[in-house]
Amino acid sequence: MLHVAVIGGGCAGLAAAARLAEANIPVTLFEVAPQPGGRARSVYWNGQTLDNGQHILLGAYSETLSLLELAGITQSDVLLRLPLQLTMQPGFQLRTCHRLPAPLHVLCGLALASGLSWHERWRAIRFMSRMRLASFRLTRDQTLAELLEVQGQPEKLVRLLWEPICLAALNTPVAMASAQIFLNVLRDSFSQTKTDSDLLLPKQDLFRLLALPLVEFITKRQGRVETGVGIERITRSGEAFELEDSKGRMIACSHIILAVPPFRLAQITGALPEFKAAAISATMSYQPICTVYLQYEAGLRLDQPMTGLTQGMGQWVFDRGQLDQQHGLLAVVISAEGRYQNLSHEQLANAIVTELGLAFPSLAKKLASPLWHKVITEKRATFACTPGLHRPQMLSGIDGLYLAGDYVDGDYPATIEGAARSGAHAARHLIQSLQQGKTS
Ligand SMILES: Cc1cc2nc3c(=O)[nH]c(=O)nc-3n(C[C@H](O)[C@H](O)[C@H](O)COP(=O)(O)OP(=O)(O)OC[C@H]3O[C@@H](n4cnc5c(N)ncnc54)[C@H](O)[C@@H]3O)c2cc1C
Repeated sequence: MLHVAVIGGGCAGLAAAARLAEANIPVTLFEVAPQPGGRARSVYWNGQTLDNGQHILLGAYSETLSLLELAGITQSDVLLRLPLQLTMQPGFQLRTCHRLPAPLHVLCGLALASGLSWHERWRAIRFMSRMRLASFRLTRDQTLAELLEVQGQPEKLVRLLWEPICLAALNTPVAMASAQIFLNVLRDSFSQTKTDSDLLLPKQDLFRLLALPLVEFITKRQGRVETGVGIERITRSGEAFELEDSKGRMIACSHIILAVPPFRLAQITGALPEFKAAAISATMSYQPICTVYLQYEAGLRLDQPMTGLTQGMGQWVFDRGQLDQQHGLLAVVISAEGRYQNLSHEQLANAIVTELGLAFPSLAKKLASPLWHKVITEKRATFACTPGLHRPQMLSGIDGLYLAGDYVDGDYPATIEGAARSGAHAARHLIQSLQQGKTS
């Protein structure tokens, strides 16, 4: 009997289940947490809805946007679309020239960027042009720091432009980051259509933005979504599978899309010795992301919804009042590992308050006294996106068992889009194999 189990209700699992439901394939999604969304989830604290971490999307996130459309969501209702604009406070501003086609809109933006010398702007343009000429492909992957050095990128340009983009996209410091994956992001964002480089900022919390519409779509198409149900073990049962869940139930299914993080694979697949889960998790290491939420009086407003910070630990500050009406709430993001990890939440919040005062001197007095703070750190926010990383294939090597997740082989770093593409890819492969009468 055809019945697909999707295990894990993050972006990858939701994407997979939605694509299967779209094709009218019987599907049940199992999520161990009380609500779906995975790392892109909302957190309920002290009567507030916060996100597990502030997320941004890009115009190039084609699969994510297509899924929202599938779920009947009008993009402009849930996402604030801004032509790429990087304001690093203090010191640097890049705005794309929106009247020009890609990639001229970026090259022109670089030529006019404020806070950089002519020499630095020229070096940035030359780097982009050379990478484009090489079709954004390297013959051998290396760290981004190595590539930027070989390409003669001055220190200030790296600090104000390339490093913030690398941290935002790959969540891996330039000294460790894969130059090839970084170039893939540049390719998709900057070289095709100019809207690909737009920033898409959530106007709703992550649960309402992504998980809820997809769950509603899946259930409307006769799929099932079971939250608060962990799958503890997969066993083979002839050509099919049996799942043992956290309630002690045994569930039969014909196919599985396993969309859990790599460090959960070993436990679930322990009864499938031919699946080498340990080898997969051994290749992965992780990087954290910390979000410091600071609540001020509702009247506090920054100039822009998103501003880069350059003088301390904080990297970006988001004014949630301009996004989802949480007036006076600022979210400061710190990507990748750093000295902030040695501070208590109190110390970190105080340090960020000081940094904000320096970045916005005209608001320093108001910024000095938040009403409350909340620090959320996700230790394994993303896999460390290092050169030549061996990422597992979507085909697990076991008929009928597919892998999905942001870490699965693909040319994106750990992002919502990487996860959505991976889930959709597994679902499409499964659908195609059913049409061709194969099991995988
Ligand atoms: C703080 C933070 C900020 C980020 N910022 C951005 C950003 O700005 N832009 C961007 O694009 N990306 C961002 N990301 C990355 C993005 O959130 C992830 O890449 C994406 O959500 C990963 O989705 P996934 O489905 O691959 O994995 P996950 O979200 O980890 O989903 C796996 C799911 O499996 C479930 N699960 C585990 N074990 C079991 C089991 N036994 N049974 C059933 N279910 C199980 C888990 O509970 C989880 O829900 C950020 C991540 C974090 C943490």
